[in-house]
Amino acid sequence: MRVDVVSIFPSYFDGLALSLLGKARDAGILDLRVHDLRDWTHDRHRTVDDTPYGGGAGMVMKPEPWGLALDELVGVSADAPAVTGERPTIIFPSPAGELFTQRTARELAMREHLVFGCGRYEGIDERVFEYAAELGEVRLISLGDYVLNGGEVAVMAMVEAIGRLIPGVVGNPESLVEESHEDGLLEYPSYTKPSVWRDRAVPDVLLSGNHGAIAAWRREQQLERTRARRPDLLGE
Ligand code: SAM
Repeated sequence: MRVDVVSIFPSYFDGLALSLLGKARDAGILDLRVHDLRDWTHDRHRTVDDTPYGGGAGMVMKPEPWGLALDELVGVSADAPAVTGERPTIIFPSPAGELFTQRTARELAMREHLVFGCGRYEGIDERVFEYAAELGEVRLISLGDYVLNGGEVAVMAMVEAIGRLIPGVVGNPESLVEESHEDGLLEYPSYTKPSVWRDRAVPDVLLSGNHGAIAAWRREQQLERTRARRPDLLGE
């Protein structure tokens, strides 16, 4: 999968060189390229923002650098993958977007080319989204119902959630199936050695060797936790 990220703070993404995603990059499974939006500015101050039309607080990201970035990354002249001719998916993190869930991650993990545009200030000039829709499928995606200072942290979270679903990134694919949200429920509690720690014992059933009983207990725990912490997932 090819992933392009455009940001005015590219060093935020240095962390993606670590751990499983770092290994996936080294192995060529994930072709992640981070770009500085200011490289598509042409003035002395490398300006990316201006005051909002209609007044109001804060600054808005100017459309010109975004237009040039999109032209280069997904436009006709782009050096982008054209393996099957699939249109790229252009994602703008936004608190005003659709909510990012495990389902979104699974869906996006099947794409060949994702482009993320990190907003800052009050956000990006609206015309950029319209223009991007001419070049690919545009998604405005929110990490949650709160406001961050910029899109970088949201993109880090999305790239990690999507990246670990790409075949070959996580060593044991079974560990992906048994996780929270994969079957609409939260994951069951996990324990490791020692069997007793500070007077707290691991539940007997997990030491029983009875796989049927363990599976039943885990399912029960999943339901109990989901009902207590996230009844909305059960439609309650
Ligand atoms: N004025 C915008 C609004 O009220 O919708 C918020 C702008 S926010 C300060 C700046 C940038 O942070 C946004 O353009 C977006 O890229 C990112 N951002 C903030 N909260 C986010 C969230 N919950 N999910 C995804 N991105 C977010």
